[in-house]
Amino acid sequence: MEKVRTLVIGAGITGLATAAALAERGDDDYLVLEADSAIGGYCKTVKKAGFVWDYSGHFFHFKHPDIEAWLRARMQGQDVRNIEKKSFIEFKGQSIDFPFQKNIHQLPQADFIDCLYDLYFANAAKGEAPAAGMTGFKGMLYARFGKSIAEKFLIPYNEKLYATDLGTLDSDAMGRFFPHADLTDIIRNMKVANNATYNAHFTYPAGGAIEYVNALASAVRSDAIRLGEAVIGIDIERKVATTTKGEIQFERFVSSAPFNRLLEMARVPHDPATYSWNKVLVFNLGFDRKGRKDVHWVYYPDRSTCFYRVGFYDNIFDADRLSLYVEIGYARDAVVDAVAMREQVLADLKKNGVITDHELVAEHSVVMDPAYVHITQRSLGEHARIKGELAARGVYPVGRYGGWTYCSIEDNIVEARALVKTFA
Ligand SMILES: Cc1cc2nc3c(=O)[nH]c(=O)nc-3n(C[C@H](O)[C@H](O)[C@H](O)COP(=O)(O)OP(=O)(O)OC[C@H]3O[C@@H](n4cnc5c(N)ncnc54)[C@H](O)[C@@H]3O)c2cc1C
Repeated sequence: MEKVRTLVIGAGITGLATAAALAERGDDDYLVLEADSAIGGYCKTVKKAGFVWDYSGHFFHFKHPDIEAWLRARMQGQDVRNIEKKSFIEFKGQSIDFPFQKNIHQLPQADFIDCLYDLYFANAAKGEAPAAGMTGFKGMLYARFGKSIAEKFLIPYNEKLYATDLGTLDSDAMGRFFPHADLTDIIRNMKVANNATYNAHFTYPAGGAIEYVNALASAVRSDAIRLGEAVIGIDIERKVATTTKGEIQFERFVSSAPFNRLLEMARVPHDPATYSWNKVLVFNLGFDRKGRKDVHWVYYPDRSTCFYRVGFYDNIFDADRLSLYVEIGYARDAVVDAVAMREQVLADLKKNGVITDHELVAEHSVVMDPAYVHITQRSLGEHARIKGELAARGVYPVGRYGGWTYCSIEDNIVEARALVKTFA
């Protein structure tokens, strides 16, 4: 039987970062198995008719200069832009600066007064017991921001995205990615704008997100990445993985596959209802000429518009043709009819003034499934418990989906490097 010290599942950011970290410390006894026919996972890039698209907008927000420098050293010749983000919310035909909760003063007067009034009294009621049914993430939104900010943006937008009852999500389900603001921040923002969020700046390569993936892969032996081979079972006692092509004995098993899939493959007893998620249908659309300038993405809370967000690739490199990604959230079991939705997307782009008489010249679509996992008290508890048990037996679930979490690409690299450091 084939034997390897470290078997890595998935050649996405996390799997490649794990292999690269092993290689860098001179541990060459590793193998990366990738079910797909290409590396990259969700950071793949699609190129069509001169347009460069990812699987939805994939922008890079580095907090660790050493990681950015390591990647950039392996991206010689790439035009990588550092961009100050411009993002807005479409509200009743007006463009409001993001985040909504810090820019209520830009709303029509009646909406502004509603938001300010409810915010004030929510703040005054701090510490009181929440009203019945006001639990989890939804309860946090009402308690912190009041009814109007919650109901005019935060609830409808996040329901379109997560496609679930927000009351079931953990109150910290979005972690550092949620732009918090208290009453003082909001009032101050009315005169001195400070809309900084975790992604106030982002970097993006001309060749698309795959360039960062290629940078990671360049540190991995090419014969140690096997494409088109999926793991379908794991015997944790014997330390043997069954793949679509045979059996492999391992000492350590690092898996970036979705956690619930790992539990099934390893036949770990669990309650499948613990793990829920949404899926996102992404349309990449290229048009014959330019659209709106000075915008990178726009949020759409209005429930009568099918998408929750539209991004403008053409404004990153000042291209002269409109190049969009459009994101639509679905419940995990919902049927995705991409053909029908394509028509709805084009109609809603027109309705919202994103396109007028533009001609569509190239397109691509993909369903990301899972896209956003539903982080609940139960998923957090169960994941932590089972992860501990697996780690004691040399099995390490990692990455956004192995970790059943909300995180960035950089977080994936940080996690992979930290894990490898723990290996003897
Ligand atoms: C809509 C959306 C937008 C995002 N935008 C951003 C952004 O702008 N910036 C940012 O930093 N992050 C963003 N992210 C997060 C980012 O995509 C992830 O953090 C990152 O791609 C996760 O990489 P990964 O390697 O952990 O997982 P994946 O990319 O899912 O890679 C896992 C790999 O494992 C393979 N695999 C799975 N099961 C098996 C198996 N049994 N056998 C073999 N191979 C297997 C899969 O084919 C896949 O290639 C976004 C995510 C979504 C959903």
